[in-house]
Amino acid sequence: LIYDVVIIGAGASALMSASMMQDKKVLLIDSNPDIGAKIKVSGGGKCNITNKYCDDTKYNTSSRLVKHIFKNFNNLHMLKFLNANNVYPRLYERLVKGAYFLNTSKEIIDVFRKITSKSEFLFNTQVLDASIKDDIFCITTSRDNIYSHKLIVASGGLSYPILGASDIGYKIAQKFGHSIGKTNPALVGWSVQREQFWFKELSGISIKDVEIKVGKKVCSGDFLFTHRGCSGPSVLTASLYWNKGSVNIDFLACNQELPKRFKQAFEKHSKQDLRKYVFSPAGTFGYTKAEVTKGGVCVDELNSKLESKFQKNLYFIGEVIDVTGELGGYNLQWAFSSAMKMFN
Ligand SMILES: Cc1cc2nc3c(=O)[nH]c(=O)nc-3n(C[C@H](O)[C@H](O)[C@H](O)COP(=O)(O)OP(=O)(O)OC[C@H]3O[C@@H](n4cnc5c(N)ncnc54)[C@H](O)[C@@H]3O)c2cc1C
Repeated sequence: LIYDVVIIGAGASALMSASMMQDKKVLLIDSNPDIGAKIKVSGGGKCNITNKYCDDTKYNTSSRLVKHIFKNFNNLHMLKFLNANNVYPRLYERLVKGAYFLNTSKEIIDVFRKITSKSEFLFNTQVLDASIKDDIFCITTSRDNIYSHKLIVASGGLSYPILGASDIGYKIAQKFGHSIGKTNPALVGWSVQREQFWFKELSGISIKDVEIKVGKKVCSGDFLFTHRGCSGPSVLTASLYWNKGSVNIDFLACNQELPKRFKQAFEKHSKQDLRKYVFSPAGTFGYTKAEVTKGGVCVDELNSKLESKFQKNLYFIGEVIDVTGELGGYNLQWAFSSAMKMFN
């Protein structure tokens, strides 16, 4: 048996692409027991599905291809797609500007279940390797070898290993000659050095509308002290642009009254300016806590349909590619937009 298409993964990007190929013999393989494991937990179970302000400037890339990808299928297309399937996301901007949420992630999982009903699924199965011989891909799994004419790698990144994440996408890419942009946890909290251990005493306190400057990027949003360091929307987005070194925090960006306990601790432990607080994170909370992985398959080594420039009929879509969005629905939008580019 040779499938027309095998897709590694049954997450957001895989499901969107499968829905476009219901006339073909398609198999999706996933180590999870069901579709959309990550969609289910996204946005705290309410799935921040897209963002009103989605364009390529919200991603850590300068690739022209990414611009084209969003021209082809953007946030408006996504909302139209959802409405056509009787799902009506709501704008909820308390934490991130322009964010659209569902009532529950189940809404979109149910849509995908319906519109991929002609695809086959192989769950609880680990993909271990892929190779090609006489134009047929051989996918080695924890069960049998599976054969296909086309292979789509939609295996995501390294974040949340508990939901099936693995490095198989990068391994396959490298095997076919691709370079992999250095991977790191992103949209994740920061741990602190000894100098900022006082942050931990403030665990649970949040400050509204802080601005964090990382290089030239200014990331705004709430700032949350945690028992390990700091988190919250401003930190999560800043972590996308941070590699090493210091960032500048403006705790007074919106001239609000600061929490008393924070003011007292700041006076006690720091001689710095509240508007220009220089801070060098020790590191991040790691892949177990990171919403996404930055780095991955080099986008410029893929053609305009996201097919490998080195191997015909091999495609990469979604988070496995070295394109990562800010907090606010940008990463699911990327998963959907990149999946749709294969068909236009
Ligand atoms: C807690 C959390 C909350 C999030 N919230 C949001 C949000 O609200 N909005 C937003 O835009 N983004 C959010 N994200 C990010 C978003 O969910 C992902 O970027 C997106 O789902 C990626 O889609 P994907 O199809 O590329 O990969 P994934 O959805 O990760 O799918 C990849 C699939 O491949 C499978 N797989 C991997 N390796 C193997 C293997 N070797 N064998 C078999 N199967 C394998 C995995 O099990 C997985 O199911 C969140 C992420 C997390 C972790």
